[in-house]
Amino acid sequence: MHKVGFIGLGNMGKGMAQNLSKNNILVTGFDVDKTVFEYLKHNKIKQENNLETLVKNNEVLITMLPDGPIVKKVWEQLINYSDQDKILIDCSTIDVETSLEVQKLAKIKGIKTLDAPVSGGVMGADSGTLTFMVGGDFDTYSSYKYLFDIMGKNSILCGEIGAGQSAKICNNMLLASTMIAVGESFNLAKNLGLNLEKLYEVLSTSSGSCWAINNYCPYKGIGPDSPADKNYNGGFATSLMKKDLSLAIAAAKSSGTKVNYGLQSQKSYAKLVDDGHGELDFSCVVEKL
Ligand code: NAD
Repeated sequence: MHKVGFIGLGNMGKGMAQNLSKNNILVTGFDVDKTVFEYLKHNKIKQENNLETLVKNNEVLITMLPDGPIVKKVWEQLINYSDQDKILIDCSTIDVETSLEVQKLAKIKGIKTLDAPVSGGVMGADSGTLTFMVGGDFDTYSSYKYLFDIMGKNSILCGEIGAGQSAKICNNMLLASTMIAVGESFNLAKNLGLNLEKLYEVLSTSSGSCWAINNYCPYKGIGPDSPADKNYNGGFATSLMKKDLSLAIAAAKSSGTKVNYGLQSQKSYAKLVDDGHGELDFSCVVEKL
């Protein structure tokens, strides 16, 4: 039986770990927040409170953590406890530099690594329909693709290490802007007296359709179940979107890329965080801004 140590069982990690567990992978979890195990106690995910033991008992270690500094801190420990029989896979969204730094550190000890950030949100994590954007070498990707196939419906090897993170920030910069545009479109429709259910039917099947409408409609009671139906609780925190936009803008600056919409979106999500909405799902931008 394959064994996976899963570190970071928050909004995303818990669904991903559960899907592995449901598919005959022996999953052991580690999280600094022990309350996550309350939620997970009814399935077969074991709890481990010691990272060294987690590494010792598992060939595959997956991290799904909030940001680069935390990934760096955790990976330094994982690398310290690992040997060349281990594979470390980071599915968090972090800056390319940190991703490269920790993966190169691992390579010195002969430890295999992949960066494999995801798209698809909490619903995708729960339903096993994520898209993985992978950076690494072909052989390592091919050997562990079965894990992405369980947790997602697509995995794309984007290039060498770091390429997955580059693809991810491009994706999220686009998503940040489309969510704002979807909000503006719905607000206009409301002010024009349109029935929003009918607008959803039109937009989701017309040239304006996009993931933010079809899969994540930011209006309560419209479209598939989404964080809007839970008053923007759960989902993808606005503070995490702000982080991703900072990563994208920094990458745009360093590569000399003009990103006017990206800059505008960054300001919008930063304001939401300043206004105290950082914990809410990022789709609250349509209501709170
Ligand atoms: P989250 O905050 O819900 O979960 C993170 C988990 O990591 C928490 O349970 C936290 O306790 C744990 N953690 C923090 N520090 C730790 C440490 N030192 N050791 C062990 N565990 C630690 O975040 P999330 O929404 O699950 O997002 C995780 C990552 O996935 C982020 O990088 C985010 O940008 C990315 N992401 C999120 C979504 C989404 O829709 N939520 C979608 C795609 C990508």
